[in-house]
Amino acid sequence: MVAQVIVDVVHTNVARPFSYLIPKGMPVCTGMRVLVPLGRRQVDGFVVDIMPKEQADVPFEKLKPIVRCLDEYPALLTQLLELAEELALECHCPLSETLRLMLPAAMRTGRIQLKKVPYAQLNTGVDALNEAETQKRSAKRATLLRLLASGDAKPVAELGQLVNNPRDALKALEQAGLIRLYEREVFRAPDGAEDIQPTAAPPMTAEQTDALNTMLPSLRAGTGAFLLHGVTGSGKTEVYLAMVQETLALGKSAIILVPEIALTPQMVRWFRSRFGPETAVLHSRLTDGQRYDEWRRIRLGHARVVVGARSAIFAPLENLGLIVIDEEHEQTYLSDKHPRYDARRIAISRARREGAAVILSSATPSILSFAMARRGDYTLVEMPHRVQNRPMPEVTIVDMRKELDGGNRSIFSRLLIQKLTECLENGQQAMLFLNRRGYNTFVSCRKCGYVVKCEQCDISMTLHREQGEDGPQELRCHMCGNVQQPPDICPECGSKYIRYFGSGTQRVEEEMHKLFPHVKTVRMDIDTTRERDAHARLLAQFGSGEAKVLIGTQMIAKGLDFPKVTLVGVVAADMTLNLPDYRAQERTFQLITQVAGRAGRAQQPGQVIVQTYKPEDPCINAAAAQDYRAFFEMEFARRRAGLYPPFTLLARLLIESPREMDAKMTCEQLYNTLQTYLLSHPKQKKRTLFIRSDAAPVKRIRGQFRYHVLLKMFDHPDIAPLLALMSELSAVSNESCRIYCEVNPAALM
Ligand code: ADP
Ligand code: ZN
Ligand code: ZN
Repeated sequence: MVAQVIVDVVHTNVARPFSYLIPKGMPVCTGMRVLVPLGRRQVDGFVVDIMPKEQADVPFEKLKPIVRCLDEYPALLTQLLELAEELALECHCPLSETLRLMLPAAMRTGRIQLKKVPYAQLNTGVDALNEAETQKRSAKRATLLRLLASGDAKPVAELGQLVNNPRDALKALEQAGLIRLYEREVFRAPDGAEDIQPTAAPPMTAEQTDALNTMLPSLRAGTGAFLLHGVTGSGKTEVYLAMVQETLALGKSAIILVPEIALTPQMVRWFRSRFGPETAVLHSRLTDGQRYDEWRRIRLGHARVVVGARSAIFAPLENLGLIVIDEEHEQTYLSDKHPRYDARRIAISRARREGAAVILSSATPSILSFAMARRGDYTLVEMPHRVQNRPMPEVTIVDMRKELDGGNRSIFSRLLIQKLTECLENGQQAMLFLNRRGYNTFVSCRKCGYVVKCEQCDISMTLHREQGEDGPQELRCHMCGNVQQPPDICPECGSKYIRYFGSGTQRVEEEMHKLFPHVKTVRMDIDTTRERDAHARLLAQFGSGEAKVLIGTQMIAKGLDFPKVTLVGVVAADMTLNLPDYRAQERTFQLITQVAGRAGRAQQPGQVIVQTYKPEDPCINAAAAQDYRAFFEMEFARRRAGLYPPFTLLARLLIESPREMDAKMTCEQLYNTLQTYLLSHPKQKKRTLFIRSDAAPVKRIRGQFRYHVLLKMFDHPDIAPLLALMSELSAVSNESCRIYCEVNPAALM
């Protein structure tokens, strides 16, 4: 027989499968990792197919044999192999790249070994107690025999705690043929996996029961896609838990995707306490060894419930019955690395392929998902109330322009200061939220709220500084690449209080300490959570009540459930509104609603203060009213009028090269090729709104110069050949440049 092998080398010359001979007796099967000769080297590869030698595309005499298998079992399940093939087509990238997504990195690099520990076990047929009697000369050997009398295998380390230095005695017992010593694989558990108390499910609320009754029949039938729209605090987690419970009862397995940042110990604990060691956890804070071992526990069927971040959608579960995507609106489900996959689309595709039900869930569904639900692609399930009739938090909008007029130049409004004082005096806790995303900022007027926007895109311009702190500044549009000088005085009102907006979390913390010198705070942002366990540690400080105020970026918005939080302050709500992205409105609405949802989750009702320079903004108002429907209708209409997705799509060819000239020239060539194509294809041209070539908004990343050809087009079947051409063009990456084809990328960097 002959194996078709995709070699694990990123080079377009080897993107197709190669044929290798399977030596007699070698247990090669589809999905196996193998070592194969390639030129003068030996490389790793994946077996993607097996066929009789007559069907191979290479004459039999020329076939080289596989050197050896790399694992004892196929690392790739057939379903996942098919998924990788589909994804390679969809993401316009070589199969070897999507295959890599399916395995823990440690497995490919081979740096992490299986962890084995010594075990001792009584040989069958040995009467241990009798033998112990005969061990007159060694009390140690006698004790060991008694400890092993049950016949169960025991770790040598455990025996060592009861008997000093048991090694020699065990060896002697082994030589006497009484016991056997061997190494057994153990799994490195993620931190905190031990000592979790089991809990039982609380009685369901009526809304939870209704939601379950709608979804359970589909789960049992192995089909169905749902959009679960439940307000913050409506008890969605409990619904997932009940669905997973039923999935296990059906003998099937489940994946629960959670945004990386929301994969808090709190969330994980819920699942572990309900499903014990059946739970596996996959997130980026695991060590390579832990991740590898969790992956193997899943692959070997020891764990059937996987709670994980984006890439856990590729977890090697067999018999998949359910996929839940919590906070489905989150950007983290779009990969920010190549291949740029969307975990939600993969979930839908994987579920269909393997006969599983899917639940997309959120208090603030993405415009796209809600539109799809309305169109009938998903069944909409709603949970409009909080559990136990707890009220939604009360939201107050504060006009920050009036604060400046009234002589308050602090970043806290007078109302926020007053509410903070009350909250702290009552012994309750507060969260101060500041959305500061990315490294760039926008330019706005503190007097009138004016923001510099691109004339062509109606998207705020981003301030860029070339070379270091004192370099020249310019404003750029991240949508179309338009460049402009930053103004010194406000074009709207003539004030000189126009400048780049950047009050970071650190400034909020300083201001907080000035106003409340004795109040302990914790700050959570990218800077303070670099260490592996920082996240858990900071949350514990807040959870225990040691710190009274939590200050953070959007990461604190997600999924946290702290009963003593009664006040949430959104320090600068406009920050997301002015992101250089057509999704700015959607993000703002989501973030305000989500953070507001952190307040008043237990007995005490919650209060939310939203500070803004644009108190009239409809999207901030819809968020304050927590009116998702109103927001959706408004935003959907705006997208249609402004020709934004889902009505149109953005596609680009991104060119990266260590030499700027090469990137630029390749970019121009590609631009010309596409232009020429459009000139001779009127159908495609008609659907294309614009085509541009330019330096990418972030021109250099890790030493690579970046240029792109950007196209905006109507999302219409006619453009398929144009997208196919772009994909083809991206496949011919040459020596000096790498070319990527991206369709609707998460961010246009
Ligand atoms: P969501 O994810 O919808 O914002 P959660 O799942 O975090 O809401 O639930 C909010 C709070 O309500 C949690 O503290 C949870 O323990 C509690 N809760 C959920 N379901 C019930 C129930 N049936 N009875 C009592 N409390 C519940
Ligand atoms: Zn623009
Ligand atoms: Zn102004």
